Amino acid sequence: GNAGGLLLAMLSIAVAIGVARQTEGPVRDIENAIRRGDFIPYYQPLVDIRTGKLRGCEVLVRRRRPDGGIDGPGAFIRLVEATGQIFEITRSLMVQARDELGPAYGPRPELKVSFNLVAEHFDDMTIVSDVQEIFSNGPVRPNQVVLEVTERQPLPNLASARVIIAKLQELGARIALDDVGTGHGGMSYLLKLGADQMKMDKMFVDAIGTERCSSTIIDTLVKLSEDLNMEFVAEGVETFEQIEYLRERGVVAAQGFVFSPPLPGKLYLELVETLHPI
Ligand code: C2E
Ligand code: CA
Ligand code: CA
Ligand code: CA
Repeated sequence: GNAGGLLLAMLSIAVAIGVARQTEGPVRDIENAIRRGDFIPYYQPLVDIRTGKLRGCEVLVRRRRPDGGIDGPGAFIRLVEATGQIFEITRSLMVQARDELGPAYGPRPELKVSFNLVAEHFDDMTIVSDVQEIFSNGPVRPNQVVLEVTERQPLPNLASARVIIAKLQELGARIALDDVGTGHGGMSYLLKLGADQMKMDKMFVDAIGTERCSSTIIDTLVKLSEDLNMEFVAEGVETFEQIEYLRERGVVAAQGFVFSPPLPGKLYLELVETLHPI
């Protein structure tokens, strides 16, 4: 009866307070870290495996720890995606990358920089105005920017995603479909999204040289990228054997530890000066 209802109500309030206490800590902690500037971009080079030339880099987020150590996304990315703090972090990475890469990228307009987005970035036009505000006055221009959307998370609204993608492309930015071969999207993403680039998931590269290797799948994806007029990128390349295998199949762009791990800005800029003199 009434007493039972009241008891239930009090119980659920108590539980709610408990949950709030638990989540307040980590959320506040991330807020402080954002304010302190602890989320920073690392840059992993992307290489042309025909020529060995540098094509640009992918920004991968890192967090500076109070003890001076550096955490990878595994330590925090799920939390900041769940709380929505990923939007502020992504914006901050774009601003930091623009300012840090600007002096090297201004005089090298052919170099690209890519950023990882989440599915919710395609819910409204904020990402379009962010890219415009951050990049339209240089020194890194919108046509040097690539935005990666993963196939791992479903895009809730493909129609609105298409519109947002078209707007970003109008600004000159390019769209990459990330982790291709893993996820929800499958063929329908490849066909409908209008992406410019296809990043084949690392698991296919890992399999090269083992009995799990399916040259059919890699060949099919490479062929598909050609048919759809998409640039093909192989990621997670760790060995020369893999480079050779990919090169034989017409793959041009690759990324992986065999070339370089993700680097702090200073080291990536040194690499640009060395590998890509003006
Ligand atoms: P991803 O976008 O697929 O990025 C590639 C990951 O593979 C990176 O891990 C990179 O360091 C790693 N990697 C690159 N080459 C190799 C290789 O040859 N061998 C191996 N074993 N690994 C390689 P990282 O930096 O730990 O990032 C993990 C994931 O976290 C990313 O996967 C991406 O999904 C997410 N992430 C990273 N930065 C951001 C960001 O700024 N925003 C969002 N939303 N997600 C991000
Ligand atoms: Ca990526
Ligand atoms: Ca990937
Ligand atoms: Ca991945």
